[in-house]
Amino acid sequence: MRLATFSVGKTAEIGVVEGDLIVSLAGVLPRLASMAELIARWDEVEADVRRAAGPRYPLEDVRLLPPIPRPGKILAIGLNYADHIRETGREMPKQQVWFCKQPTAANGPYDPIVLPKVSSEVDYEAELVVVIGRGGRYIAKADAPGAVFGYCCGNDVSARDWQRATPQWVLGKSFDTHAPFGPWITTADEAGDPHALGLRSFVNGEKRQDSNIRHLVFNVWDQIEHVSKVMTLEPGDLIFTGTPGGVGMAMNPPVFLKQGDRVRIEVDGLGVLEAVCRREE
Ligand code: MG
Repeated sequence: MRLATFSVGKTAEIGVVEGDLIVSLAGVLPRLASMAELIARWDEVEADVRRAAGPRYPLEDVRLLPPIPRPGKILAIGLNYADHIRETGREMPKQQVWFCKQPTAANGPYDPIVLPKVSSEVDYEAELVVVIGRGGRYIAKADAPGAVFGYCCGNDVSARDWQRATPQWVLGKSFDTHAPFGPWITTADEAGDPHALGLRSFVNGEKRQDSNIRHLVFNVWDQIEHVSKVMTLEPGDLIFTGTPGGVGMAMNPPVFLKQGDRVRIEVDGLGVLEAVCRREE
């Protein structure tokens, strides 16, 4: 099943994507405030969601919002594909390298990416995004699939000048609009094993990244086991799982995003993100 947050007017709604249509859940679940609540109460509401028969809209007539407009956590792992580690000139990490993107960076799947006036080195990173379902603490690798609600495409947009300026990457990774994800959540039962999906990025139609999630250094289950030793993973938390080689920073000479650039991110079976870059006034 594919679940989206969308609006046809001013109000955000949750819906089920079926082909080119979106079926509103407003009538079925009038008291369900948000996607995060739907995920948290999934066991209780799944049957109603699967029977959804509310108003239907053509997808092209709605605005898709970030599937979870204000995620509780946006966790991200760096240096997690061998070819990307090589292109950054770094050593293969022995420990998983984690950072956060701030919840205010969440951005809709087709919304503009803002190029901040204080950065001249904004870059894209195509990634698989994991949406936590049941979550928990000390989740063993074998139990990690049961902690996942679903998957999205993501773009770990990065201001390289800010990222490089300090050992901590949080500021360079957290500009507003720099965490586009979606276009909807594909539930784990429909997505299947994520470690078999191809992912790609394009800038103005030119392919920049082309890899497969099987090339992750630390796979999704390793990641969940590791971070859940530290913190409770909660329903609706996001994990950006790393990017393969081909980012703009590693081109010779480096090429960064500019006003009007169109960035497309694809993960097999999960849909696409497509954003135009807008320079901040
Ligand atoms: Mg990344």
